[in-house]
Amino acid sequence: MRITTIKAYRLLQPFVDGPYRMSKARQADAFDAVIVALTADDGLTGWGEMAPLGTFYSAAFAAGAEKGTAEIAPHLLGADPRALAQVGRLMDTVFKGHPYVKSALDMACCDLAARAAGVPLVTMLGGRESDTAELYKVVTHGPADAMAKLAARFVGDGFNRIQVKVGGGVRGDIERVAAVAAAVPKETVIFCDANAGWTPFQARQFADATRAIDYVFEQPCATIDECLSVRRSLDKPMVLDESVVTLDDLLDIHRKGAADGLTLKISRLGGVSKTRQLRDLAVDLGFMVTVEDTGGAEIDTAAMAHLSLSTPQERRLHAIAFHEWVTVRTAANCPPVSGSRMGIPDGPGLGIDVLPERLGKPFLEISGK
Ligand SMILES: [Mg+2]
Repeated sequence: MRITTIKAYRLLQPFVDGPYRMSKARQADAFDAVIVALTADDGLTGWGEMAPLGTFYSAAFAAGAEKGTAEIAPHLLGADPRALAQVGRLMDTVFKGHPYVKSALDMACCDLAARAAGVPLVTMLGGRESDTAELYKVVTHGPADAMAKLAARFVGDGFNRIQVKVGGGVRGDIERVAAVAAAVPKETVIFCDANAGWTPFQARQFADATRAIDYVFEQPCATIDECLSVRRSLDKPMVLDESVVTLDDLLDIHRKGAADGLTLKISRLGGVSKTRQLRDLAVDLGFMVTVEDTGGAEIDTAAMAHLSLSTPQERRLHAIAFHEWVTVRTAANCPPVSGSRMGIPDGPGLGIDVLPERLGKPFLEISGK
């Protein structure tokens, strides 16, 4: 099996609910996705997607993914998409760094490999551990009363897990989280995610003032050591997200005992294959794990769902249904969402049926070998 044709598209995916807001006035109105299609000599096509959250969230930007895809793609013509580790080494050899550029290409290889084997991707990622995964909802940063109202609406819609954005002014964020906690039932699982926005000084002030509230603290500060210094005076679980970029980061966090859980983002790690590697190691090391991505629609969400459902239930935190965030529809047979839970579509590979006519004109189309 050889890759014979590569197409790539760029697609803006506006948010259904308007701007997405994080602390420090970081804001996005849409995901800006790069989608790739790899077609093999047997006629099968695999799909991959990556979409950064604006230019502020991760060390990635859509224009970079577009340019980088065009640089790497010619090297993949003639490669066997099922030889996933080899393809990964090839991409790392011809194009140094920039894991987010390789993410969609690796995802498409994984989709192709599973389609060629005639099995859902979840099977190749270790096996399906449950029918569905529990979803969480994000309470974006804003006035305390608006955040409390939004949280109550999510709970009213049947969701039991919410992630509250903090990391702004500490006094204001203490009020915000207190308002949210007061607006939802006691059993609601709350994550306070500062997205690396605080110094240890600020994070410790926040943690001390919110001691009576039951929540999980996510990525309060920028570095592993800063988060560790906060954790030393904290009696709550801590999850690290932005700090996990490489295998070395994961091992560093483990050695230092800097977290109880990890949020693994597919494009930040460089694709489904690398995410699977870190996910498996994280599970074996005893971490709780969330697998998600920085954005995307049906293709990316399907990949997240396959990775989530192949994570043992007792180690899995929660999942997110990004395809419901955006106004565009890029595929039929998308990951099914029922209430607060998400499954995977039936069928081989990612299971989705991409609708190429929805993607516009490709910015790249090459064939050969
Ligand atoms: Mg996070």
